[in-house]
Amino acid sequence: MWPAAGCDVGAKGRFGTYGGQYVSETLMSALLELEEAYSGIRNNPGFTRELDAYQRDYAGRPTPLTFCENASRELGCRLYLKREDLVHGGSHKLNNTLGQALLARQMGRKRLIAETGAGQHGVAAAIAGAVLGLPVEVYMGEADTQRQALNVFRMELMGATVIPVKSGTRTLKDAINEALRDWVENVQDTHYLIGSVVGPHPYPLMVRDFQSVIGRETREQVQKKEGRLPDAIVACVGGGSNAIGIFHPFLSDDVDLIGVEAAGKGIGTGEHSASLCAGEPGVLHGALSYLLQDRDGQVLPTHSIAAGLDYPGVGPEHAMLRDSTRVEYHTAVDHDVLEAFRFLSRMEGIIPALESAHAVAYVMKNADRFGRGDVVVINLSGRGDKDVAEVAKMQGCA
Ligand SMILES: *Cc1c(COP(=O)(O)O)cnc(C)c1O
Repeated sequence: MWPAAGCDVGAKGRFGTYGGQYVSETLMSALLELEEAYSGIRNNPGFTRELDAYQRDYAGRPTPLTFCENASRELGCRLYLKREDLVHGGSHKLNNTLGQALLARQMGRKRLIAETGAGQHGVAAAIAGAVLGLPVEVYMGEADTQRQALNVFRMELMGATVIPVKSGTRTLKDAINEALRDWVENVQDTHYLIGSVVGPHPYPLMVRDFQSVIGRETREQVQKKEGRLPDAIVACVGGGSNAIGIFHPFLSDDVDLIGVEAAGKGIGTGEHSASLCAGEPGVLHGALSYLLQDRDGQVLPTHSIAAGLDYPGVGPEHAMLRDSTRVEYHTAVDHDVLEAFRFLSRMEGIIPALESAHAVAYVMKNADRFGRGDVVVINLSGRGDKDVAEVAKMQGCA
């Protein structure tokens, strides 16, 4: 039905005109080496078998596809949740960190470095490093280490070293710059483990491949339960890895694919993270994609109630899928996200991550789009335990 747009990456790591490798000369050789190593193992049955075994016996895959009887009645469609909240660590992030850590070990790398904002990717990197026996150093803005002290403690419990970054605004983008600096200096023995489908080629391709297990499982499971493909698949979009992971195996099918960005306090307020819906093309962290920038090309500050969506950029494959209109991108505001967080908890006994609650909020606000018989799958990218203290505080309960 749809052309095989986005099914593979084009010349020089491009998705249409997006992506690429906008990096310094010193990083180019590291990227080329990674590209070569990755294409060597990409379709290697030995590597796939080893990764599959970790995904099954350690991470807990396949994750269930849960039919939501109560929410379906309420919303007037046949609602399913793809349960990435049940992956070890509590989100889809381990799908990627296990894949990259195994690749790094195969390449003979002796240490992993990672960047983290709220700490969720840092924790997933620490888990993968611990189980695969590779030391992990995580760069984290100093401001974030204070806000997310429990995640710092989690990483340290699992043997990782957290390096507070004191430059700039002491947040995620400063942590990324420090991690890149480290990588340039230590390319021979270090793998830089990026946490989403962002950064220079081959990261957007590689992370998408590792996350596509979500969509492959969903395809099989929904066909078993419904005897057909779903009418729509909805996922939240930060960097875009959980969304592309579930969308990718359906790109050539007649299935509505809907990405939901964080509108924060409202697009008009400027306090949001909706790079595809409100941004412009530009270069950030080594790739051309949509991003939030001012007229001079300065990256704008972002806001979301969900720390995992609070990023000014987005993966280049999403930029292409936006322009081609194969995927629809919408937004959800913080207020509606909180309502969705409570709705799913009460209806189904499942507390969603605030990130994932953006996808739930879209379906709630647009319930009249779907008919009674329509099969709708939401990618539940993570569990909400990490968010309950914050939501309690907002309600004045703590
Ligand atoms: C990190 C995170 C996200 C956002 O990252 P993507 O790359 O857009 O998937 C979404 N949900 C959860 C639970 C996360 O931890």
